[in-house]
Amino acid sequence: MSTKKIAGIKHVFFDLDHTLWDFEKNSETVIEQLLVTYDVERQYGITAETFIKKYKKINHKLWHLYSHKKITKEELRNTRFTKTLEKLGAKNKELGMLLEKEYISKSPYQTHLLEGTSEILDYLKPKYELHILSNGFKEVQRIKLHESGIKKYFTHVFISEEMGVQKPDREIFDIAKAQAKVDASQCIMIGDNFVNDIEGALKADWKAVYYTSRKKRIKIANLYQIKSLLELKELL
Ligand SMILES: [Mg+2]
Repeated sequence: MSTKKIAGIKHVFFDLDHTLWDFEKNSETVIEQLLVTYDVERQYGITAETFIKKYKKINHKLWHLYSHKKITKEELRNTRFTKTLEKLGAKNKELGMLLEKEYISKSPYQTHLLEGTSEILDYLKPKYELHILSNGFKEVQRIKLHESGIKKYFTHVFISEEMGVQKPDREIFDIAKAQAKVDASQCIMIGDNFVNDIEGALKADWKAVYYTSRKKRIKIANLYQIKSLLELKELL
């Protein structure tokens, strides 16, 4: 496969979770530690594997509701662990809230990055202005960037909660573009979420790179697709 470099790009915007910061691995690491600390397996007979599987399902549903403004950040956070326990036959609100509190405080300090993150950022940094454009909670995302050692690469860190608008809303892309003082045609968004990162960016007249394990190529104008971060070297 021969690929040509994408012309005209000056600013590269990265999503954070699941794109650079290894959300799955970091999240699982913390939950496993907490289940040991609070003796959940022995007390309730729930293995870490079972717990994590159920938690992910519930968390995913709640995030969906949150992103559609059906529930608040507090409701999301107050429910997911308690509900996971309850669904697994361990009704214990106190423990649920404790797990939530510890999870929130510990997870941003995890430092697993997706494969190729540092290498690709080192490669791109001398050639482009790099930024983060993330849907997420402000106190959490900034710690992740700092702790994982990648903060230094980014000129601007745009976080939806601070901006009052989320991807895929066109407005967040317009604000980021204006603050970076750049034209839409010079911007490219790299992310793993097709709706939030890709459709959002394309609607704002940016280019986009979809980071996905799926093999099937999606053919849309101004859209590129990669399976690993290092493939960006062929495009940028
Ligand atoms: Mg993501």
